[in-house]
Amino acid sequence: MTASQNSPRVAVITGASSGIGAATARALHADGYRVALLARRLDRIEALATQLGDGALAIKADVTDRDALVSAAHQVQDTFGGTAVLVNNAGTMLLGPFSSEQRDDYRNMIEVNLLGAITATEVFLDQLKDGGGDLINISSVAGRTARATNGVYAATKWGVNGWSESLRQELLPDIRVTVIEPGVVDTELPTHITHEATRVAVQQGYDAATVTPEEVAEVIAFALSRPRHLALNEILLRPANQLG
Ligand code: NDP
Repeated sequence: MTASQNSPRVAVITGASSGIGAATARALHADGYRVALLARRLDRIEALATQLGDGALAIKADVTDRDALVSAAHQVQDTFGGTAVLVNNAGTMLLGPFSSEQRDDYRNMIEVNLLGAITATEVFLDQLKDGGGDLINISSVAGRTARATNGVYAATKWGVNGWSESLRQELLPDIRVTVIEPGVVDTELPTHITHEATRVAVQQGYDAATVTPEEVAEVIAFALSRPRHLALNEILLRPANQLG
């Protein structure tokens, strides 16, 4: 079964159990999308799916587990008929002074933020192509800046940016790739920091955050609502017989 042109678009959102992912699920559902909510905390995504009602599906999936993502992709295909939008949002920000004590955090951030997004994308790629798809990658201002104690987190987001730019050029016109780079957003993100002194300091900054996850979700929904335009270089790259 493939998604019909007339049926609502289907959006898959990773990390939909809190923060920006949950807000994006709400915003897209309000815009008429059917939404598949992926995360590890099943109770949270089930509660959100129940709240949203028709057209919302909760699927437990850890983005570091490719089999779980493959199974999620089958479930979305069977339930909704395909995927038009993938929002790679799942992420973790385990800041702290660079040291061997943090090595598990480094591996975790790379596996979730970078490899998790790459894996979810390759798993859903055929469905996205079929659905005239959109890929939204949630990066960060840390994807173009860096500061003491955020080196590996920044590396994952710089990685997301480089990978996304390559995909943007490669996947058009089948799939449009958009990168979102929020600054400090009021979510539970810093509560998972394992280095205590850093967690306390970063939490103080987050306590003063003025940007809400709903505002970021609004930007994502707006980007998805825009018509597609090929950039000049993409027009020039098309074979001569397709120009004009
Ligand atoms: P939250 O901590 O609220 O959300 C993170 C989400 O990622 C949760 O839903 C969590 O779900 C999910 N997640 C974490 N690990 C995994 C995993 N292994 N598999 C599947 N899902 C996972 O923070 P935010 O909403 O702030 O973060 C969302 C994204 O926004 C992240 O990529 C973050 O880097 C980015 N960002 C956030 C900013 C901020 O200031 N808040 C600024 C810039 C970017 P669960 O634990 O249930 O699996």
